[in-house]
Amino acid sequence: MDLDLTEAQRRLAEQARAVALGEIGPEASEVDRQQRFPQKAIAALAGHGMLGVCVPKEWAGAGLDTIACALVIEEVASACASTAAIACVQNLLVCEPILRFGSETQKRQWLPVLASGAKLGCFAFTEADGGSGLSGVATLAQREGDGFVLQGQKSFVTCAPVAELALVVAASSPGAKNGLSAFLVPTATAGVSLGPPHAKLGLRGAVSCSLALDGVRLPAHALLGSEGTGGDVLRFALDAGRIGAAALSVGVARAAFTAATRYALERRTNGAAISDHQAIQFKLAEMSTQIDAARLLTWRAAAARDAGGGASTYASMAKLVASEAASRAASDAVQILGGNGCLCDYPVERCFRDAKVTEIYEGTSEIQRLGIASALLKE
Ligand SMILES: Cc1cc2nc3c(=O)[nH]c(=O)nc-3n(C[C@H](O)[C@H](O)[C@H](O)COP(=O)(O)OP(=O)(O)OC[C@H]3O[C@@H](n4cnc5c(N)ncnc54)[C@H](O)[C@@H]3O)c2cc1C
Repeated sequence: MDLDLTEAQRRLAEQARAVALGEIGPEASEVDRQQRFPQKAIAALAGHGMLGVCVPKEWAGAGLDTIACALVIEEVASACASTAAIACVQNLLVCEPILRFGSETQKRQWLPVLASGAKLGCFAFTEADGGSGLSGVATLAQREGDGFVLQGQKSFVTCAPVAELALVVAASSPGAKNGLSAFLVPTATAGVSLGPPHAKLGLRGAVSCSLALDGVRLPAHALLGSEGTGGDVLRFALDAGRIGAAALSVGVARAAFTAATRYALERRTNGAAISDHQAIQFKLAEMSTQIDAARLLTWRAAAARDAGGGASTYASMAKLVASEAASRAASDAVQILGGNGCLCDYPVERCFRDAKVTEIYEGTSEIQRLGIASALLKE
């Protein structure tokens, strides 16, 4: 087993760390507090090819793989989880499905502008009454001549307020086994409208809102893949997105751990550093171990995906372990900082809020457990 990164992966991770420290971290707290889109941070990532890590160089991407993408997302998340969440959407939920299922024309039209950051995309699957399962898509895609008319409402769409392209999953044959289709919908299309921006617990700079599709007329070439393959597009995108969410969680956990370790070494009470207490040491040891475990699961899922094998269960395991590790690490970090952990002046309260969201978005922990169990019981 080879756990070494390639030279290209290591170089990109180093670049991402430098960008995260120099250009993203300094505005992270303000982005969170103001719940605003991190324009400067996204421009910085775009400038380094980090919005299209897996996109071939001929289409303005970095031409690397899912492991490289996970490395970038972890580094970015250790500075600003909101920025990392946006990078996840662009790289893994939008570019990846286009790369895998898009026609040559679609790839040429969308990948260069997405990978270069000239345009942002969003991924619109969730619906208010759909819940966590994959079967609750009520948005309809009805045939009209050569094209389709979309009618429905999507909720919780990250980046919708800033996106020029929405990847929309809709029911083209409601109730049928292969009844879903995926569409590339320019958000300027007549009939597309946005709800007000959400005010959120965490990932507050990864702006989101609902997206309504009211009689949206699309040409046949807006179909991503063929009619009835929307379920495949969805599963493919969710596998990628969950690996991204896992990497993001590792980054958040790392940020919490770093802040807690530094604080524990510096903070002195009754003449001794709090790091002298075994109770604090155990917390730090647990955090560090969980971070490594989560990262290894994330890399395994990414490697399985890059090898072309089934990565769904690995992606769910990585997402489950990493998001819960992030929540625990952030909670323990708040505990280690004591009263200061509750203040917005220290980064751990932001980690605490961002980490909680990772247990919910891209499929809740319960849904990951269900998916893992279902795969196990089929074996
Ligand atoms: C910040 C944020 C960003 C998001 N971005 C996007 C996006 O860009 N695109 C997009 O399409 N969606 C997005 N989502 C939606 C997200 O994926 C869903 O919120 C999530 O999958 C949970 O679905 P739900 O909210 O409908 O919860 P529900 O399905 O209503 O679940 C509520 C609770 O019930 C539990 N539950 C539900 N079903 C079961 C079951 N069968 N067994 C056991 N427990 C169950 C859940 O685990 C959860 O604890 C985002 C959400 C958030 C919070």
